[in-house]
Amino acid sequence: MAKRDKIGVLDLQGGVHEHVYHLQALGINPVRVKEAHDLDDLAGLILPGGESTCLIRLLNIFGIAPKLKEAYADGMKIWGTCAGAILLSKEIENEQAQLGLMDIAISRNAFGFQVDSFNTKVEVPKVAKGEIDLTFIRAPKIKSVGSDVEVLLKIDDYIAAAETENCLATVFHPELTPSLAFHKYFVEKCGIAVTNGVNIMPDRTGWMKYARITSPNTK
Ligand code: GLN
Repeated sequence: MAKRDKIGVLDLQGGVHEHVYHLQALGINPVRVKEAHDLDDLAGLILPGGESTCLIRLLNIFGIAPKLKEAYADGMKIWGTCAGAILLSKEIENEQAQLGLMDIAISRNAFGFQVDSFNTKVEVPKVAKGEIDLTFIRAPKIKSVGSDVEVLLKIDDYIAAAETENCLATVFHPELTPSLAFHKYFVEKCGIAVTNGVNIMPDRTGWMKYARITSPNTK
């Protein structure tokens, strides 16, 4: 069995740098996964947000998808953010499932167009004390989960975060907010102790400056 003591971020497309930056703020030096062998030492892999159809295409073209499933079977945990959560789902509404590693049913682009993206603040008690910022960018909705899946956050008619023993799925982007809470939660889920961690100052040059600050309840 592999040593599996590192955290990786899939580095093919999407919000890679922001995840790397959040992990570095926790004192973790992540592996940027560009090739199948980059998975060898991973205790945990983050599938970033981006475009799920593009990501699965690249995962297949570069031959990473089968090795990723092998590493998962060998104990590597996976966190999918947004498009990453779509890749993890066993069921995608009106589409074929991709990696299919997590028993959740998901609906893509469920809030509408890119301009319908939004920020909100909520409490996720298992992950952090107090409210944290959440950023939804052309996000999917998790519509239902299997019996081995724990719901971490439900808003209105959809599930926004859920986990199993080996997977975490969030339809929003903690890496685009100042909070390190979800990254700390995932790293610890992977059995790696976190000793550092001061929340990052919001980067107003990033995508967030364009997002409406609103609550899903008022949409
Ligand atoms: N809309 C994208 C998809 O369906 C996901 C968007 C995101 O990752 N922010 O793949």
